[in-house]
Order: sequence, then C-alpha cells, then structure tokens
Amino acid sequence: MSERKEQIRHLLSSEQLDALLIFGQADLRYLCGFTGSDGVLFVSKHRSVFLSDSRYQQQAHHEVAADEIRCYKSKLQALADLFAETGCQQIAFDGRRLSVSQYLDLQRLCPPGVIFTPLTDQLESLRAIKQSDELTFLRRAAELNRLAFEETLPTIRTGVTEREVALALEFNLKKLGGEVNSFDFIVASGPRGALPHGVAGNKIIQAGDLVTIDFGTRVGGYHSDETVTVAVGSVTGKLRQIFDIVLEAHDSAIAAAGAGIRACDLDAIARDLIVRKGFGDYFGHGLGHGVGLEVHEFPVLNGKSDTVLTSGMVVTIEPGIYLPNIGGVRIEDTILITDDGHECLTSIPKQFRQLPP
Ligand code: ZN
Ligand code: ZN
Repeated sequence: MSERKEQIRHLLSSEQLDALLIFGQADLRYLCGFTGSDGVLFVSKHRSVFLSDSRYQQQAHHEVAADEIRCYKSKLQALADLFAETGCQQIAFDGRRLSVSQYLDLQRLCPPGVIFTPLTDQLESLRAIKQSDELTFLRRAAELNRLAFEETLPTIRTGVTEREVALALEFNLKKLGGEVNSFDFIVASGPRGALPHGVAGNKIIQAGDLVTIDFGTRVGGYHSDETVTVAVGSVTGKLRQIFDIVLEAHDSAIAAAGAGIRACDLDAIARDLIVRKGFGDYFGHGLGHGVGLEVHEFPVLNGKSDTVLTSGMVVTIEPGIYLPNIGGVRIEDTILITDDGHECLTSIPKQFRQLPP
C-alpha cells in the first residue's frame, strides 16, 4: 500500500500539487485497502488521511492503511477543514468521481486560496500494471470460471431458458467461492446472439442455436471475464462459418499479444481478418479492455487506443460477429501481458463445441 501511495506522491510532485483526493471505490481499495462503498482518501506529500462516515468507522479501522482515519458527518465540510488544517492549497481530485454539484459545494466551503485541479488521464492508468498478489486473485477468479462452466455444461440443452443457464452458472461460481457476479451474465441464444449485450432472458434454447455465454466472478475484489459460444445440436453452415472466423480472429490477436504492441494494432489484427472475410460491418465493438478491481478498466483496446501494452497489464481479447435476426458469436479470453508474449488466465476451451440437443 505504501508503494502505491508513492505513485500518488510522484504524481503530486510532477504536477506541482499539494494533495490529491481519491473517491473511486476501486482506487480506494487499491491505495488503502478500504472495501466499503463510500469514503475519501487524502494524500499529501507527507500524510495520508482516510475519511468516512460512522457506518464505516469500524471497518475502516480494521482495513485501512493510512496515517489517520477520520469520521465525518459532512464529507465536503470535513475535507474543507482538512485543507485549512494542513495548509494545502493546490488540490487535485479524481475528475471522474466528483459530480459538478459536489465540486461547486466543495469550492464554496473551502478556505480562500485553495485551487482545484481535476485529474483523469493521470489516474486512469494507476492500477494498470498488476502485482503478484493481484495476479493470484485474477488467476483464481479465472479458474472458478472454468470449474463452474464445466459443472454448468449439462444444463445447456434445448428446452432450458437462458435465465436458467445464467442461474446455474451463478450458483456454481458462488458455491466454488466466487464473491459476486462480475456483471449481469449474457446468455444469448439463437437470433438473440446478434445482441452483443443480450442479458439472459426467458428465451428457450432450441436445437440449432448458437449460445453465447459471457460471464465472470470476483475473488479478493478482482474479476474474471470470459465468453464462450457453443452450439446446441447442429447449426447452419452460416453460423459455423462466423464461428470459425471469430475463433481465428481471437487466436490471431492472442498470438500477437505481448509487451510493446499498441492496443490499436492488436485490435487491427482481429478486425482486418473479420473485414477480409466480409463481416467487418458486424463487429461493432472494440477488441477488449483491461480487467482488475473493475471488470472494465484501463487500457481500452480499440482502433483509437494508442496505449502500448506493457508487461503486467491484464486485458481481454473478445472479437465477435453479430448477424441481425440470425445469430452471433463472441469468443473472449483474459490474458496477462508479459515481456515475451502473454499468459492466458482464462482457460475454458474455445474451439467449436457441439452439445447434444
Ligand atoms: Zn465478457
Ligand atoms: Zn469483456
């Protein structure tokens, strides 16, 4: 934790700031260990103070690594008092986490001379490089995906609703130790597979459907994210064709992934292949995203992202093809970027799989 606060102090000196305020849940957990949903961390060059309301005092004293823990009745007033007390005047805050009305209120309460600077880009990459304790959780979360999927496979049959598949997955993940679902699971069968975010509904799975299942859990605060597309019974040649193209795009992008490649170049590897096969119009989203304390975090992998992938980043590779009224395929793995390439964290086999109807 102290090493992580040093990153913040480095930022303070490079931006000539006196202190930084952190409000985001994932950043609070990362920087001081707080797992609750409401609090703020003040970091100056020489001091760190965590502030929360009475609901979280016991928890904060148990979890938080900071020089001081304070309880407030009004968050903004407590911050204004802290600025007056410490004499800090150049204050940065996480611009993604403070609303405009909170910002205006804070300004009004502050002693004269206090100047605020919103930061976004500088904070976005704070959690990008995963350390070994974080990787332990990410690996375990990915492992739970594989174990839970294996247990759920017999459920994926004709006559079963998408919701029943999602519930079976959730049950198995939690039985194995998963904390919460990473997001509302996507189980999109048949023509619903054309919806990239087709949250599991009441549709009954039928023979001849491709079923896209996008799911994940959380361990130690860290998420898993993986998508499998399976066939129930035999599918049309068209569906098999798009499956094979997506798998090839997925495999090619993963094969090229490693430290030093730009995110947009990796996106292009998968996208160009899908375009060459004539399905470019049906792959509308980016190739992937970072995964960690948040299921979608820095870096973004798309055609516009010039972020250079670095050893220690954990990202998804998830190309897809979605044909309206026909069906869709997405295949997603979460990988760790290493100096000599990558390591796949998720491990459910992705090759074409036809389940008995
Ligand atoms: Zn996913
Ligand atoms: Zn994803």
